[in-house]
Amino acid sequence: MDDPGATAAFDGELSAGLRDLGWTTGSCSGCRRTYFTRNRAEGCGDPRSGCGEWYRFVGRRAGVRHRPAAEVLGVMTGVFEATGFRRTVLENLLSAARDTFFVVAGVQLFDDELHRGAQVKEGRYLLAQPCVRVRTLARVGRKEGISSSFVNLCTEQANGDMADYLAHLRAWTAALLALGLDADGLALTVEPDLRRRGELAFRTVNVTYFGFELGEAILLRATNDRLAVRSIIDVGFGFERIVWAANEADSYFSLIGPMPYALVGHHRLVDLVRTMTLLAGAGLVPANKGRGHVMRRLAQLACAEPEGSGAVVEEVARHSHAYWSGFLRPRVAAAESVRAVVAEVHRNENVALARRLGLRMTGADFGGSPEEFMTGLLRSRRVDLAALRAALGSP
Ligand SMILES: [Zn+2]
Repeated sequence: MDDPGATAAFDGELSAGLRDLGWTTGSCSGCRRTYFTRNRAEGCGDPRSGCGEWYRFVGRRAGVRHRPAAEVLGVMTGVFEATGFRRTVLENLLSAARDTFFVVAGVQLFDDELHRGAQVKEGRYLLAQPCVRVRTLARVGRKEGISSSFVNLCTEQANGDMADYLAHLRAWTAALLALGLDADGLALTVEPDLRRRGELAFRTVNVTYFGFELGEAILLRATNDRLAVRSIIDVGFGFERIVWAANEADSYFSLIGPMPYALVGHHRLVDLVRTMTLLAGAGLVPANKGRGHVMRRLAQLACAEPEGSGAVVEEVARHSHAYWSGFLRPRVAAAESVRAVVAEVHRNENVALARRLGLRMTGADFGGSPEEFMTGLLRSRRVDLAALRAALGSP
């Protein structure tokens, strides 16, 4: 798919195939690009080309019943399994055999085939894959739909062709409509540029719902004959985005929970603790470098948030561990994961307090709750009560 001819061929096959599936072609009056639609005439609605309409599904239908994440997953899984997709999951988020610190997308199902010459897995797969992407951290809590950890709901297939790709799109459309999403809101737009991932080339097809990006449907094709993997179909959605769209709720974050914190705007704190809990559940131990440093950094950021105290962190971590357990079997049980997250947040609080007190201490001394830490400082006479009060900001 390197040359313009092949790209045009892809577009031609896609248009013809989507037409057979009941999609029509429109020309966007905003960005002038071609888009595919089930039933809409108001433009592509793709935020990437400046035509987004901002979350117009919010509050669209009166009295939409609340659908928890587990129910949404159940409905969609039922549709995919009925059409021959097999459910699987990458259990080990920290596997050394993968090419990133953590699993960042379900398409890593094929890392071994792409990079280590493993035999190609046949068939169509459905993954509801917990993922961590810390490069989004700066935007978390400031923009709807962004999380540093999330479930990548995706369908994957190696060595499929355009007919397979269209079968994936047909199953996705059926699954989204089975949830009650409005066909009028769905649109597909094709990115103009050819992109590359290693030795595979692809164009991105964005799937939007009333101007909100739900996911991408990609057909990657090998650019040379050396690869045993000739193509990969990778149709990946943000599962929590789908849950938001299905619920038509005011905010994405209200569905990330837990409600007492999500509803009053502690989105960043909730996100940080949620990601820490996923990593602690996978067995990641905080450290000063390497991937363990990510955990330490998340705890630092959590401490910097208002409300980032132990009790809140504990409650959010317990909620999050239960959430992640709906998608994979955490290696570390709930109580121990929660304890590890709280301990690391406490450690950072203690480090910050020692810094304010001007104390020189080594790493091992920062353990325990802030209560225990302060008691230790007073007992060992490293500080007196007046200095401690001043450092804590009391008058
Ligand atoms: Zn447009």
